[in-house]
Amino acid sequence: MTEQNSATRRFSQTVDVGGIGIGGSNPIRIQSMTNTDTADIEATVKQIKELGEAGSELVRITVNTKEAAAAVDIIKELLARDGVEVPIIGDFHYNGHILLRDFPSCASFLDKYRINPGNMGRNANFRQMIEIAIQNEKPVRIGVNWGSVDQHLLTRLMDKNARLPVPKDAHEVLLDVVVESALQSARMAEEFGLAHNKIILSVKLSSVPDVVKANQILAGLCDYPLHIGLTEAGMGLQGIIASTAALTTLLSEGIGDTIRVSLTPAPGEDRATEVRICQHILQSLGIRAFTPSVSACPGCGRTTSTFFMEMTEEVNQSIAQQMKRWKTEYPGVESLKVAVMGCVVNGPGESKYADIGISLPGTGENPKAPVFIDGELHTTLSGPTIVQDFIKILENYVRQKFAQSKPS
Ligand code: SF4
Repeated sequence: MTEQNSATRRFSQTVDVGGIGIGGSNPIRIQSMTNTDTADIEATVKQIKELGEAGSELVRITVNTKEAAAAVDIIKELLARDGVEVPIIGDFHYNGHILLRDFPSCASFLDKYRINPGNMGRNANFRQMIEIAIQNEKPVRIGVNWGSVDQHLLTRLMDKNARLPVPKDAHEVLLDVVVESALQSARMAEEFGLAHNKIILSVKLSSVPDVVKANQILAGLCDYPLHIGLTEAGMGLQGIIASTAALTTLLSEGIGDTIRVSLTPAPGEDRATEVRICQHILQSLGIRAFTPSVSACPGCGRTTSTFFMEMTEEVNQSIAQQMKRWKTEYPGVESLKVAVMGCVVNGPGESKYADIGISLPGTGENPKAPVFIDGELHTTLSGPTIVQDFIKILENYVRQKFAQSKPS
């Protein structure tokens, strides 16, 4: 994985979460959350491993019951036994102060506490959670969600707005409430003694324009690292596109230090899909690279056979299979650009632009497929073994280009 571009990032403090730096000049981190019952230790450990293996750099788990709190240290120990070092965040609502107080090992094994001021209030319970964080030297994320916004603050800001000579639109006041709720809670946590660099903030809403606006406001008012994402994004294409739209807008403005795509999985769908979407978003924006990218044209009337689609799929599958080994043997391979193009119209141009590309013959064209490497014609393939031949050339290229220079 390589960091490609963080020149336009908003300045933020660095917060250490279980050895992973968040904010500052650290890479924009990918987070995810389990959907297992945390008290089901086996299922939770399994899913954390899957998420970590997919590339989640932090994993959040629900800590909502005594049983869940009691499971945390065992989960951490099992992960450590298997060499899984991903930091674990406890997601607390309503009773977090009680669980952290009654289960000191939970408080000490978690790497960060997520606190929702909307359902904790900014009262003695909140103070208790902050004091436990201080005792255990843990950072917190103060995460405000639209769906559980602080009702007292909402009433107060609505009343204040109503007294203005020209009141704001009620919708704007709601955005102010989520931002103000996060900032007030952070200020209060610092008054209780939590260090400035132990706080991460998030404001999550379910509408793209709202989540963008709220984060733009928040980003201009503080230097806490921001965890960004659309909440309740939904399922399938809808959730992916809405999350991508929100994250892309914010990241392009340099806003966001950690991201999550809160996708509702289809029954039986791999939970790690949300991690891969985050990776695709960061890679598409040129912010980080995780795996070689394969450009392929959409196909048109010039590609009446399915051959080029099948070839694109096979090249993708081959790369996915090799990546585990490539990542360790060939550092930097993540930034490799491959092109699989359908015909002569854009094929040679796009293939020359990639590190390695093939321009397949479209319908009625000469059945030859030129392969380009670093912008130059390398060879021409034809016949039934085009796919295997190209994959072989690709593997050789990776070996030559990314092999670590051995000490003499
Ligand atoms: S490269 Fe050729 S096959 Fe692919 S979309 Fe363009 S014209 Fe169609």
